[in-house]
Order: sequence, then C-alpha cells, then structure tokens
Amino acid sequence: MDAAKYIWMNGEFVPWEDAKIHVLSHTLHYGNGVIEGTKAYKTAKGYAIFRLNDHTKRLKESAKMTLIDIPYTVEEMNKVQVELLKKNEFKGDNVYIRPFAFLGYGVMGVYHKDAPVETVISAWEWGAYLGEDGLKNGIKLKVASMSRSSNTSSMGKAKATANYLNSQMAKYEAIDCGYDEALLLDDQGYVAEASGACFFMVKDGELITPPNDNSLASITQKMVIEMAEDFGIKVTRRRITREEIYVADEAFLTGTAAEITPIANIDARVIGSGSCGEMTEKIQTAYFDIVFGRDAKYEHYLTYID
Ligand code: PMP
Repeated sequence: MDAAKYIWMNGEFVPWEDAKIHVLSHTLHYGNGVIEGTKAYKTAKGYAIFRLNDHTKRLKESAKMTLIDIPYTVEEMNKVQVELLKKNEFKGDNVYIRPFAFLGYGVMGVYHKDAPVETVISAWEWGAYLGEDGLKNGIKLKVASMSRSSNTSSMGKAKATANYLNSQMAKYEAIDCGYDEALLLDDQGYVAEASGACFFMVKDGELITPPNDNSLASITQKMVIEMAEDFGIKVTRRRITREEIYVADEAFLTGTAAEITPIANIDARVIGSGSCGEMTEKIQTAYFDIVFGRDAKYEHYLTYID
C-alpha cells in the first residue's frame, strides 16, 4: 500500500509509522471493531470527500450495534477527516479514508465492557479496487460456496470487522478459482451482496437491486438508485435468485471502493455483451461526474477540504 504522512489516533495526528498498537489488543483476538470506507476525489476545486457525513454516521451506528462507545461525535470525526486530508498533502485523484474504532489493550476474555475504545482515522492513495481493466471492461464474478452470514447470527448491518471473515473466505475462493470477485447469497439462496460491494442487474430496461435485508446498507447503492430515478429509469428493489442473474442483460457492482464496476461474466455465463453494458456505462459516467465535482446538481454530497 502507499503510505501517507499522518494518521489520526485518539485525538492526535501521529506520523504514519508510529500508529501502533499492542499485540494483546482485544479486537485482534475477538474481532469486535467497526470500520468505514470513505473516498475523496481530486476535483477542479481541490479534494472533496464524497458523502462524508453519511459514512461517519454509519460508523457511529455500526459501533452502537456492536456495543463500542466511540468518544467522538460525527461532527468531530468529520472535521478530523478534512484535517487529515489537508495534512497529508495527497497528489493523486483517489484517496481512501478508513475510520476505525476498536478495542485496545488491557482486558482479555470475551466480555468487552471494560476494554478501552481506540479511534483511528487513516487515509492513503488507492486506485480502482477491482482494477482499471475491471472498471472499463467488466469483472468475472463467482457465486460463493459459503452463504452470507445470516441475520440471526451476526450484525450484518454493521460495517463490523468481524463480518469480513465471511467476505474474505468468499473473495479468496473466487480469486483462487480464476474469478475477480465473489457474490454471496443469503441463507435462503437469494442474492445478498458481493464481498465488498452491492449487486445490481438490468433486465428489460429495469434496474433491479436487492433490499438490504442481508447486506450492508450501502451508500453507493442509495446514490445509484437516486441517480437512476433522476434519469427516469425504473428501479425495483426485490429479492433476486441465482438463475436470474445468469440471464441478466447487464449487471454491475457498486461500492465506495468498487465504484461502478461492470460484471462481464458470472459463473461461466457471459452477461449481456460480455463487457460494460449501456445502462452501466451511463450510470458509471454519471457517478464519476458526481464524485469529481462535475455535476452541480449533486454537489451537496461533496465536502471540499480547502
Ligand atoms: N457491502 C459490503 C460488505 C461492503 O464492504 C461494502 C463497502 N463498504 C458495500 C457493500 C458497499 O457499501 P458502500 O457503498 O457504502 O461503500
């Protein structure tokens, strides 16, 4: 990864290489931590963080779900992220921001009430999550052999570090089998989400995406729905079966890191033209216009840092 200059740790900016923790930190052993993944883009008016408040609010809500009491307000953490971007003096088009709250050193055993809460925000330059070629020409998706953790056994709505074991197993399997990304079905066999992104398909001019019953409440998914409706595209949120995705006209993934990534192939079935579909391309172009500050209508979603 590309190191930056500073990381914000519990109220202070520290040099990147000094942001360290003890090996007996509670979260390393028992897995209770919460993260965000937020992005800033270099616009014509300097860096702008996309939907900053939504992301920070989700971090606080994830923490509440998993019983972690973050001692900073959303407003305080928003300010830190702006400051962090300034202090790091980034140069490239894409900066990824990773707010993180976890349990530190001092208490062992599963019961975590007395474990100290650590709050850390890092940022670094990070390009296309699924590769530049994937963004342009589409990726190969594999339906994972493991289902997405069920609502009765995990905090699926929290962006909790613990949930990423499920994602990690699915992603590893997909890449090991020659694919780029994994799609997880829920315990009823309906499409839940990819290992780190949401799923959309196009059928007969309609855009279809699952409800968030078994997925993270994705900010990019919400954005795409708003944009598509503004274009006059019919958007339906409903359960999607495995057979349906194989015969979709187009399909794509959405996420802060994944942005709008076309899907060319799922489980050896070519999707549509086998590249980026027409509606996917329209939405992808519009999305980049928004995040790079080229669309005044959606500028309220940007927090400029200068
Ligand atoms: N699902 C999972 C499991 C994710 O990790 C992500 C990325 N945060 C998403 C969906 C997409 O969420 P968002 O659009 O808010 O980044």
